[in-house]
Formats: sequence, structure tokens, C-alpha cells
Amino acid sequence: MTMDMTFLGTGSAYPSPHRGASALVLRTDGECWLFDCGEGTQTQLMKSQLRAGRITKVFVSHLHGDHLFGLPGLLCTVSLNTNPDPQQTLSCVEIYGPRGLRHFLRVTLGLTGSQLLFPYAVHELEPTTDQSPEEGHLSPEATAECGPLHPQEQPGRTIPLNVSNDCYHLFEDKKFVVKAFRLFHRIPSFGFCIQEQDRPGRLKTEVLRELGLKPGPLYGRLKAGEPVTLENGRVVEPSEVLEEAIPGRKVCILGDCSSVLGEGPLRLCRGADILVHEATLGNEHREKAVDHGHSTPDMAAAVARACCAQRLVLHHFSQRYKPCSLQKEGDEDHVSELKRQAEEALKDSGIEVTLAEDFLTLTIPLRR
Ligand SMILES: [Zn+2]
Ligand SMILES: [Zn+2]
Repeated sequence: MTMDMTFLGTGSAYPSPHRGASALVLRTDGECWLFDCGEGTQTQLMKSQLRAGRITKVFVSHLHGDHLFGLPGLLCTVSLNTNPDPQQTLSCVEIYGPRGLRHFLRVTLGLTGSQLLFPYAVHELEPTTDQSPEEGHLSPEATAECGPLHPQEQPGRTIPLNVSNDCYHLFEDKKFVVKAFRLFHRIPSFGFCIQEQDRPGRLKTEVLRELGLKPGPLYGRLKAGEPVTLENGRVVEPSEVLEEAIPGRKVCILGDCSSVLGEGPLRLCRGADILVHEATLGNEHREKAVDHGHSTPDMAAAVARACCAQRLVLHHFSQRYKPCSLQKEGDEDHVSELKRQAEEALKDSGIEVTLAEDFLTLTIPLRR
């Protein structure tokens, strides 16, 4: 299965001509999952190789506008481009995000009279009070759902923190397990861990031959984890003929934060193939960054090191940092300096550092 990640916006606070607001797409076998949807994400999508109509799931890290203002507009445009064939039942777009997101979409789509051709459901994560300073707590009145469901809205789940393992279980299917974890920011923010299911190991052909099993459908059944009975009555267990399982890939995408919260994040992100972490400002602005609930390259590197990630990808840069390609001599703030700072902090760790730029695509190779 192919797996890649495309950054659609790598700027913080607002979209600018040289950096879009936060959004990235994780694509597997043609299905697209969108992580955050800042204002202008739909035009960024149009400029990319991706197709908005392929988005089946949306994950919103937190409710700040630079991560969310683009979502109602994007949903409406996807709907406009959807074939209104009544014979076809369109699948539901599953949206995951903090408490309040259901209300936000119901009000924005409702007041603007927006109808969608496909159904959507919002699954809300219940934040805990230690995810932000007190002024960042959203009152129950502000996030309560008002009025009836939007005509295309399907009831979503409310997902509380699983206290025993300090994470939120979003869903699991044959291919993936997706969980969320808590971050500290000015308002409650979350990170997402996308874990691909392990794949069965290779068949030990030597052993199969000794057992008298010839290549054919029985091989497939063993590989799928089913025991097989031979003509002589002998039962062959998959564990006898399969090499060790090949671990699935792991991608962790963190929302805005000045720190992770609890034990869940580092445990879930352990050994991630890719850890996407914000680095809004350089190390020299650490105090300002923390004041605003953000991180510096040093802080991002510390998280990558603590969870032994293989690769750290930095994004969510202050708009003061122009992309490398637009950098001119004499410019004060160099985004390449952020990379250098993270690399310095990760010296000798073997962790690779990548600077995200709008439209950068990273391929996540299979583990061997
Ligand atoms: Zn932000
Ligand atoms: Zn934010």
C-alpha cells in the first residue's frame, strides 16, 4: 500500500501569498485524510495533485481559525463538484475534532443555507481542563449543540479520554488504528497517531514444502491467519509457516502546542516513521513562543528524541519566515535556521529533520 503526505499549508496564524494556513493530506491507496483545514485550503488543494473529492476523513487538531476556517467552504465546494446521481449513495465524511466542532459546523453551514450532497458526521473529543490555561477553556454554553442536526448531518460519537491509557480511541479497521492524544496550547489541542496494522510475515517456503503443501489457495489462507488441515489430518498453524509480522507504519501529527500532556503522547508516538511537529518561532524567541502556546525547533526536537521518531518534520512557521525559495539576501528570519536548530538539538540521534513547505510531498516507505 502506498502512503504519502502532502503539506498544503505550513504557515501559522493566517494564509499569506507565500504560505498557506495549516493543512496536510495523508493519502493511502487514493483515499485522502485531511489534517486541519485553515482558510484557503481548498485553493491549495486545487493547486496540488490531490483531489478534494477523495477526502473521506477530516481531523481537526484544535479550534483556532488558522486550522479550521477553511472547512465549511471546502465541504461546500466538494459538494458542488459531486455528481448528484440519486442512484448512488455517497459515503459519509467522518470529521474528528475537539468538542465544539459539531456546533461550529452546524451554525456555519446552517446560517449560510449550505446544503451538501453527502452526509457528514462529527465525532468530538472531550478535552480535559489541563490542556490549556483557564482563559482557554470553552464554556459548555459555547460548545453545546443548539438546534436540530443539519439536514446532512449524521449523529457523531462523543469520545472521552480513556484514562487508563491516556488517549482517545478514534477508530480501527483492517488497515489502521487511529488514536488521539492531548497537547497543551492556548485552547485544548490534540495530536493524532495513525498506526498501520502489521502485515503478515513472509511464508517459510522451505517448511511448507516439507509439510507437502504446494503453492495455491491454502497459502493465502495461512497468510490471512487461518489454520489449515492437511489430508492426513495434521493442522498447520499460521505461526508455524510465517516469518515474523512486518510492523505497520506509524505517522504522528501534532496540533499546535507548547508541550505534550500526560504519558499518552510519547507512548503512542514511540518509533514513529514521521513525527509532524510545529515550530512556530526560532529558539531565540522561546519565551514568546511558549507564551502563545507554541514551540521552537529545540522543543520539537525534544519530543522527537523522547519518542525515538525516525524523522521530524517541522511546520506551522510564523509568517515572518519566507519559504527557502523566496528568501533574499539580507532577510532577517531564515526558515533554514529553524532546521539547523532542530538538527543541532538532534545531533547524534540519527533522527532526520525535514522542513515542510507548501506542496511538499513525503513518501512513507513500507517497513521491511
Ligand atoms: Zn495555529
Ligand atoms: Zn493554535
